[in-house]
Amino acid sequence: MMIKKIAGLILTISVLLALISSVAVKADDGIKITESSVEVAFPSQLVFKIEAESDVNIKDIRLHYQVDCDHFAVVTGEIIIEFIMDTKVAAGWTWDMLKSGGLPTGTNIEYWWTVTDTDDEKIETEIYSIQFNDERYKWRSLIESDITIYWYQGNDDFARQLMLVAQEALIRLAADTGAYLQRSVSIYIYASANDLQGAMIFPQEWTGGVAYTTYGTVAIGINEGNMEWGKRTIVHELAHLVIQQMTYNPYNSLPVWLNEGLSMYAEGEMEPLFINHLRQATENDELITVRSLASPFSADASISYMSYAQSMSIVEFLVDNYGKEKMFELLGIFEQGSSYDGALMRVYGFDMDGLNDLWRDYVSTIYG
Ligand SMILES: [Zn+2]
Repeated sequence: MMIKKIAGLILTISVLLALISSVAVKADDGIKITESSVEVAFPSQLVFKIEAESDVNIKDIRLHYQVDCDHFAVVTGEIIIEFIMDTKVAAGWTWDMLKSGGLPTGTNIEYWWTVTDTDDEKIETEIYSIQFNDERYKWRSLIESDITIYWYQGNDDFARQLMLVAQEALIRLAADTGAYLQRSVSIYIYASANDLQGAMIFPQEWTGGVAYTTYGTVAIGINEGNMEWGKRTIVHELAHLVIQQMTYNPYNSLPVWLNEGLSMYAEGEMEPLFINHLRQATENDELITVRSLASPFSADASISYMSYAQSMSIVEFLVDNYGKEKMFELLGIFEQGSSYDGALMRVYGFDMDGLNDLWRDYVSTIYG
């Protein structure tokens, strides 16, 4: 199909040239793409290959690609391929994820080539589409409305249990905060943290779940042995996707306490471990300020637990005292790219310092 089109175009040009001048025009077979392929070596590599020929030397080959994820302008990558000029060339390019950072399984990538010869004839191939899939496992899938669960170990009931938890989380999120899924999402259930880490570039050894928010993908290691943890983690990561979809904008991200707090809140009741941290910090007057919690949390385990516990408590305070309509409104204002203080001020009439004072009173009555 593509080659036919190119031949047609070249024919038109030749006829025109023949009309303009009666001087014999050199017979030009034009550029032909004889081979185009891509090999997926998940999660580390994509190897693009091309073979082309022309009656004169080929002087320039470029690979163009687009990755399917949330963005405000279409971003096209362009790679200038290195090769030795010839009438017949075989060339390629390896996308090394170890250098660029990884992509989640299931990511769609579109790509095409442009090839130019020394006659300055240039052709562009059709657009090819591939999926960057983790083919180490035989995935099965379960689809319900906007959620697809992929898994490879465990029976149908295992997947159904996880789907139920995910669907309930969406209902609860909508009821408590007004936030809902705007585009479909994929949840990949690996059979263990180890399997999951094999799907990632430079994983941390403690990584058990990951949300690729701009790709609408979650990947978690869950088996029969850690179902309770797994269910909480599905809810937590799914909530991150919902919140991302509700508030995505090119200007500003959410304060971390709001993002993590909403995900924790979606999980349900606060776990005893977090309650203990909150109680201790309240008693010892060691609460972190709301303003500090707007930035990424400390890696220190104890401070990190505290940060999550406080974030959940702040969201709880806002939802319980001011209602879900206000929270929904807050998310809408963040979608417009508002500053943290500005958004709070508009919806609640106080900024982060004001929130800090009110929330400290609230926790001291519960835990003080
Ligand atoms: Zn989180």
